Amino acid sequence: MATKYIFVTGGVVSGIGKGVATASLGRLLRNRGFTVAPIKLDPYINVDAGTMNPFQHGEVFVTEDGAETDLDLGHYERFMDVNCSKGSSVTTGKVYKNVIEAERRGDYLGGTVQVIPHVTNEIKALVQKVAVEQEADVVIAEIGGTVGDIESLPFLEAIRQMRTDLGYENTMYVHVTMVPTVGPWHEVKTKPTQHSVYKLREIGIAPDVLVCRCEVTMETEVIEKISLFCGVPKEAVIQSQNLDTVYEVPLMYEDLGLGDFVSKRLGLEHRPDQMEEWRKLVNTLKNPSNEVTIAVVGKYTSNGDAYKSIAEALVHAGIPNDCKVNVKWIESDTLEGELTPEAALADIDGLVVGPGFGGRGIEGKIEAIRIARESGLPFFGICLGMQMAVIEYARNVCGLVGANSEEMLPHPPYPVIHLLPEQKDVKDKGASMRLGSYPCNLVHDTLSAKLYGATRITERHRHRYEVNNDFREKLQEQGMIISGVSPDYRLVEMVEVPAHPFFVATQAHPEFKSRPNRAHPLFQGLVKAALESKKKASV
Ligand code: GLN
Repeated sequence: MATKYIFVTGGVVSGIGKGVATASLGRLLRNRGFTVAPIKLDPYINVDAGTMNPFQHGEVFVTEDGAETDLDLGHYERFMDVNCSKGSSVTTGKVYKNVIEAERRGDYLGGTVQVIPHVTNEIKALVQKVAVEQEADVVIAEIGGTVGDIESLPFLEAIRQMRTDLGYENTMYVHVTMVPTVGPWHEVKTKPTQHSVYKLREIGIAPDVLVCRCEVTMETEVIEKISLFCGVPKEAVIQSQNLDTVYEVPLMYEDLGLGDFVSKRLGLEHRPDQMEEWRKLVNTLKNPSNEVTIAVVGKYTSNGDAYKSIAEALVHAGIPNDCKVNVKWIESDTLEGELTPEAALADIDGLVVGPGFGGRGIEGKIEAIRIARESGLPFFGICLGMQMAVIEYARNVCGLVGANSEEMLPHPPYPVIHLLPEQKDVKDKGASMRLGSYPCNLVHDTLSAKLYGATRITERHRHRYEVNNDFREKLQEQGMIISGVSPDYRLVEMVEVPAHPFFVATQAHPEFKSRPNRAHPLFQGLVKAALESKKKASV
């Protein structure tokens, strides 16, 4: 069977949940047993998202093979339960870089290099390469930005051409729009959607499906009107209202018949939807028996998306624990100013100290970790969070006054965290960290090994600094357990503090591998410990 291509575009406004819509559609096809390869086509000129500020752009998602990508790839992985790869993220920067390199090599044999066909051909080639690499039945490509943006034009032109290249039966266009309500009676307005579709048609793309984000239920007349004006069959006008949990979106789409519509439209074999597992997990999410509050201390908490995968991993961890996980976001430098760490941590059941770069707010993080360690508050450190836990232990247990990371202070008296040797001569900021999946050996009988139920694991990474091996012995002498190391023993990957209900920290980013149907063991362990500590406190 020829690979089928679904292209998802967005209209009216940005930030209407195209990523979740794309991921949810992918789930419907995965449930039918199809191999789905998601791709994000991003019109920005950055070669990848690795150099982008999380305040502006949200989390940088890291794939198994070490690509630093847009956070939408996280939605794809979580909803579709697939692993994305370097090829799953295509930016204007990447496309132009390839085209310019080809031009310099002389590949175009003296031709004039132009947006059409050279740039569009490169986009098409990159999309089709993923289909081949991942042996995909269906490729779902989401185009970043909003229709009407100048910068997304080459991508739209490329996907328009792909219908001509591959045929109507192998391509379809899904347009995600907003249907706003206005005035005191919340009148539903279809005009922005109509205009957005006109804009798309101007480029030569007629949508097959419209996903309409709307705050209220759309009456039949509204759906009929959109269908008529936009030339989309009624059953393909999908209303997408806000739901209690994003994981309910695939269920809503399925109930509206989107799965069958898409399968039929693309000539895919008719298969049952197999939504049972998903329905069950959504049901637990919506009706949990327990509740805990976990504080997440980070540097970019003012952007709700900056720790997206951590937030989602905590939600997932609640599922097997039948527990709602509330997150209390704490901006790290507030712990050094208006808020004492004691006050901030007073009403919580667990603490996560998250990833980050640079020195701002680290003293607050270290203080929060001290309180958690001393008071028995369940604690989970992630990447920078592990480095801070090591610094805290070095200072307050090992007596290494002024211990720090070389990232924060050039020459600390005790550089317990220092630059990875392979990072010493690295000058470029882009794609230059220790990135992607690496194996780790866990020490038998440690909490980490028990949680994973294994002693050989792999996790994704994104860091430049590591625990300085000169201090390993000192830390261990004073009771810190190095529970995970790289197979060559060179790198500390995980630490624990025993005689504590839960004090675990990892140099990796386990949040990237958590799925709603497979909560990550470390997050699961944290939530379980938080729940136990809450129950204990209430007796
Ligand atoms: N800044 C630290 C390092 O580069 C931690 C990175 C992170 O938290 N992702 O090692």
